[in-house]
Amino acid sequence: SPSRSSVIVIGAGFSGISAARMLAENGIEDLLILEASDRIGGRVRKENFRDVTVELGAGWIAGVGGKQRNPVWELASQHGLRTCFSDYTNARYNIYDRSGKIFPSGLAADSYKKAVDTAIEKLRHQEANHDGEILELPCSPETPIDLAIDFILHDFEMAEVEPISTYIDFGEREFLVADERGYEYLLYKIAEDFLLTSEGKMVDSRLKLNKVVREIQHSRNGVTVKTEDGCVYEANYVILSASIGVLQSDLISFKPPLPKWKTEAIQKCDVMVYTKIFLKFPHKFWPCGPEKEFFIYAHERRGYYTFWQHMENAYPGSNILVVTLTNGESKRVEAQSDEKTLEEAMRVLRDMFGPDIPNATDILVPRWWNNRFQRGSYSNYPIISDNELVTDIKAPVGRIFFTGEHTSERFSGYVHGAYLAGIETTKSVLLEMRKDDDRKSESQSQS
Ligand code: FAD
Repeated sequence: SPSRSSVIVIGAGFSGISAARMLAENGIEDLLILEASDRIGGRVRKENFRDVTVELGAGWIAGVGGKQRNPVWELASQHGLRTCFSDYTNARYNIYDRSGKIFPSGLAADSYKKAVDTAIEKLRHQEANHDGEILELPCSPETPIDLAIDFILHDFEMAEVEPISTYIDFGEREFLVADERGYEYLLYKIAEDFLLTSEGKMVDSRLKLNKVVREIQHSRNGVTVKTEDGCVYEANYVILSASIGVLQSDLISFKPPLPKWKTEAIQKCDVMVYTKIFLKFPHKFWPCGPEKEFFIYAHERRGYYTFWQHMENAYPGSNILVVTLTNGESKRVEAQSDEKTLEEAMRVLRDMFGPDIPNATDILVPRWWNNRFQRGSYSNYPIISDNELVTDIKAPVGRIFFTGEHTSERFSGYVHGAYLAGIETTKSVLLEMRKDDDRKSESQSQS
C-alpha cells in the first residue's frame, strides 16, 4: 500500500509553496507536494523572449509604500529583486485615435471623470438592487474614447471607484518586476528554506512535478489522491491550491462529491482572463521618456488592443511592446493563430504610428484560459458580494483544505494574496492536527 504522508499539498504556486513551508516550519516534515506542470511557480512565470525575461503571469508587486509592509515586497527587498516604479494612471493622457491623433488631455480628463462617476452610480445601483430598490441604470459608453476609458477603468483602475484592500493596507505604489531571474526567483528562495536543492535545482523527493491530480477520495480517516499517471498517494490531510478556474472545471473529481454549498460557491466566483501579448521590433518607433510608458488605443470595439506598454524602463533597448487583452478578447486571440494576432496588432500600431513602422519580428501570446491547470488568470469576486462567498470557497470539506489567491478575503487576485492564503490555510490544518493528537491521547488515557 502507498506510504502515507501527514499532508499532501496540491499545486506548487505561491500559495502551495508558502503553505508547505509553513508546515515544515511547524515540524511537519512528511509532506508531499504534487504539481501538475513541470515547474514550480504556477501563475508566476517568466519566459525568455528574444533574450529578454518577460513575465507571462504576475508582473507587478502591487501595494507598496503604505503603513503595513507587503510581505512580497519584503521578500523582493530581502533578495534584491530588481523592480521599476510604474504608474499607469498616465496612460489616460496618451490616448490615440484611429488616425494617430492624441486626444487632448482635457477631453481625456473629462471622459475619465464621466467614467468614474458612472461607475460609482452603477455601484449604487447594484447596492440598491441588492436591497430590493430599483434605480435607473446610467447609460453605457459609446464613443471610442469613452469605451477605451471605460475599459481601463474597469479592468485596471477600479481603485478610483471603490477602496481596494491591497492599497489601503500596503500602499498605493506598484513596482514592475524587471529581473532576469524572474518574479519566480522569490518563490525559489522560499522553497529553498525547506526543500533540498542542488546547484540551484530542486532535488527534494517530496516535490513531485508532472503529477496531475485527477481524483481526491476522502473520508473521516484520511485522504487518497490519484494522479493521471496512475499513482496513488495517501495522507491525513490535503491542501488544495488549484485555481478557481480549475475547481470550476472537471479536472479533479471528489469522492464523495463536494457538498452543494461548496460547488455553488465555486461556480459563483468570476474568473478574469488577462493576457499580455509581447511584440519584438527591430527598433523603437514609440515615444519614450517620463509619462509615456503606457498608452491607449481608442477603437469602437471595447477592449480591442486598448492598453499598451513599452518595456524600455524595465529593459532599455529591448524594443519590446506589450499589449494587454482581457476576458472575451483574451479568449478570442487564444483561439486563433499567433500570425493572425500579430497581423491585428500591427494594423492597430499602424493606425497609431503610421504606415512606415517596421513589422514585429516575433510575438508571444500566453494562453491562460486554455491551460487546463489554470483556466483563467485570477479570481474576480463581484464587487457587491457578501463575504460569505469567499468564506464558503475557503472552507474545508472534511480533510480537504482549500488555499490559493481565491481564498484570500482581503487580497484575492494578487501574489501576496496567494502567499498569505498559504500561511492562513496551513494554520487551520495545524489546528486540526492538534485536535487529532488531543483525541488520540484522550482515547489512550481512557483505555
Ligand atoms: P497558482 O500559481 O495557479 O498555483 C496553483 C498550482 O496548482 C499551479 O502550479 C498548477 O499547475 C497546479 N495545479 C492545478 N491543477 C492541478 C492538479 N490537478 N494537480 C496538481 N497540480 C495542479 N498578481 C499580482 O500580485 N500582480 C500582478 O501584476 C498580477 N498580474 C497577473 C497577470 C496574469 C496574466 C496572471 C495570470 C496573474 C496575475 N496576478 C498578479 C495574479 C497572481 O499571479 C496569482 O494571484 C498568484 O500567482 C496565484 O498563486 P496560487 O498559488 O493561488 O495559484
